[in-house]
Amino acid sequence: MKTYETVIGLEVHVELATKTKIFCGCTTLFGGEPNTHCCPVCTGMPGTLPVLNGKVVEFAIAAGLATGCEINQNCKFDRKNYFYPDLPKAYQVSQLYLPICHDGGIEIETSAGKKVVGIHEIHMEEDAGKLIHDPWEDCTLVDYNRCGVPLIEIVSDPDMRSAEEVIAYLEKLKLILQYLGVSDCKMQEGSLRADINLSVREMGAKEFGTRTEMKNMNSFKAIARAIEGERKRQIEVLEYGKVITQETRRWDDNKDTSFAMRSKEDAQDYRYFPEPDLVPIVISDEWLLEIENRQPELRDEKMLRYEKEYDIPAYDAGIITGSKHLADLFEETVALCGRPKEVSNWLMVETMRLLKEEEKEPEDITFSAEHLAGLIKLIGDNKINRTVAKEVFEKIFKDNIDPVKYVEEKGLSMVSDEGVLKATIEKIIAENPASVNDYRSGKEKALGFLVGQTMKEMKGKADPGAINKILKELLD
Ligand code: ADP
Ligand code: MG
Ligand code: ZN
Repeated sequence: MKTYETVIGLEVHVELATKTKIFCGCTTLFGGEPNTHCCPVCTGMPGTLPVLNGKVVEFAIAAGLATGCEINQNCKFDRKNYFYPDLPKAYQVSQLYLPICHDGGIEIETSAGKKVVGIHEIHMEEDAGKLIHDPWEDCTLVDYNRCGVPLIEIVSDPDMRSAEEVIAYLEKLKLILQYLGVSDCKMQEGSLRADINLSVREMGAKEFGTRTEMKNMNSFKAIARAIEGERKRQIEVLEYGKVITQETRRWDDNKDTSFAMRSKEDAQDYRYFPEPDLVPIVISDEWLLEIENRQPELRDEKMLRYEKEYDIPAYDAGIITGSKHLADLFEETVALCGRPKEVSNWLMVETMRLLKEEEKEPEDITFSAEHLAGLIKLIGDNKINRTVAKEVFEKIFKDNIDPVKYVEEKGLSMVSDEGVLKATIEKIIAENPASVNDYRSGKEKALGFLVGQTMKEMKGKADPGAINKILKELLD
């Protein structure tokens, strides 16, 4: 068999985090009773006129700047005409001829090394409604709540060569958009969905092969499986001496295979023409500069800053900046209690462990920086030991309790009275003559046993360091 190379380009649709829709004042909130987030404009009633939401343009520009694009300061909207019940106007307002951003790229890193994935363009458009097929009633219902929700479509160049690169690209893109605050990128809610264009060609071939497109993929795992499945299918077709048909296919993740949906339509099929109800968009130099100056620090910069400013390892910085929420929590906590490495440890080890246990994402963390900082202060002031701290942290993680109050109420602070500690240790020494002898005859391990016994006697509320010290003083 010949060897083949996989070529992939993505079209990523991202729902913008504006409060209102792109051309009317309806809310963009996810969910809601069907057809309650609608008005005559977004349901395409005759005689209504769209008014562009300025925030959409601002978010599109921010996304473009963060992905190294050039901004088209004079751009406009076009109508993409098609008949389908999810689209009440029978056209989607989009941008074909002059997209707002073009010719950018983002750097990704995989096991194959670093590379730049080109961004062909980013354009603005409106979302469509949702069809709900009811097999019981044998009918289809339509919910227009998503109609007119603003989207940007980010079109990459066909620069990716593996599922690994695709995931790296999507992860990176997601982080950029989340850090910018232009989208929450929740894939389960459809805020970020990817169309995968894929072709294969013989290794070393100059021309690309014919591609297929798999639409609206909304989980990284399904994307990886879809790429693998489609790559294999195409190679098989070619190996049989047949040709690939350019078409839209639907990936069925349960059946682990894709099905042909329709032959691919091209721009002509949509009878695009300039949108006559909206004026062209003119982006002044001042506005552009203003947005540029307001761009927040993105992941890569933040990572470098963490290493320098907080003196934490690159590994820690990578994990913490892997989620905007985690990064914010880290900075807020350090501002309250210092000790960045300690803060980073709690976030990377215990927090991640508990998140995994509950199958949650860092975005789902509910505890406050104040309470984590409070815990770290208790440890620093030698009020509680590590074992107790872990227990308290679980309560913080689950219920965001105030650690200072909790430790007080439950009587968890360490006994700091030297007299009590000494008396307990003397008791343990008297009760364990064999271990005392072992220690005195050079078996260091015996000391650990005695520390443990003392700790047990004090119900865990003692400082192991202090026990160690006093024990040695008494025995040596
Ligand atoms: P269309 O106008 O038909 O949507 P585009 O040229 O805009 O096609 O490309 C759509 C997407 O398909 C882009 O992300 C692009 O990178 C990708 N693409 C184009 N040609 C190929 C190919 N031969 N193999 C894989 N991906 C491709
Ligand atoms: Mg396209
Ligand atoms: Zn509306």
